[in-house]
Amino acid sequence: MRLLKTEAIVLKNNLIGETDKIATLFTKSYGKLQAVAKGARRSKSRFVNAIRLFVVANYVIFEGQNYYYIDQWELIEAHKNIEKDLAKFSVASYIAETINKILEENQKSERLYLFLKHSLKAVDELQIDPLIFISSYNLKLVSLLGYMPQLDNCVVCGKRENLKYFSNSCGGAVCINCKNKCFDAKPLHEVTLKAIKYFLKGDYDKLQNIKVSRVIKEEVDKIITAYMKEHLEIEFKSKDFIDKLQNM
Ligand SMILES: [Zn+2]
Repeated sequence: MRLLKTEAIVLKNNLIGETDKIATLFTKSYGKLQAVAKGARRSKSRFVNAIRLFVVANYVIFEGQNYYYIDQWELIEAHKNIEKDLAKFSVASYIAETINKILEENQKSERLYLFLKHSLKAVDELQIDPLIFISSYNLKLVSLLGYMPQLDNCVVCGKRENLKYFSNSCGGAVCINCKNKCFDAKPLHEVTLKAIKYFLKGDYDKLQNIKVSRVIKEEVDKIITAYMKEHLEIEFKSKDFIDKLQNM
């Protein structure tokens, strides 16, 4: 029997059997795995909080024949504010879903783990605008996965002037002279480009006090969402809810 000791974040949980729950954990040392919390559906179980969504904890997990089982756990971060706030909860759900979909079973990435931990902490502690936060998160995520869009220079000729288009297939900003070289080049407002750069490079706490018009926010979101779809080839369900939240 193998014992795993690792820090991990709860991405998802489901019911299993009569009294148990199964959690999708992103572990720092062993990647993504499914772990059963025996008896977690009973209110007095010591595992009730162990598999709460977005919890960060140190776990001792043993490998059974068919499943991993949580044996012990110690809380590191509960993210209490996320639980209490619908907007924060939606953003955190989106973040957990993206990471869950990107990772294969047992796929390990300490960089992605730390990025997730940092992002959830920001959602929990900062005042956030859901759409701005998600755009910034998405840009940081695609960049971390190796698809950082080129924003300072034209992706075709490298010039820094007249970057008036954006192309998913070419991978970033395109100047007026090169727009025909990228079949999907779409017009890009100067302010939108500025916002995208800021969302990508600025840390989350820098997003708290910026003023961005709704039109620009939505344009940035549209561009990033399409860019992610093109490069990661995944679509995310919980994003729909965030879009609805904008209209509430
Ligand atoms: Zn160019």
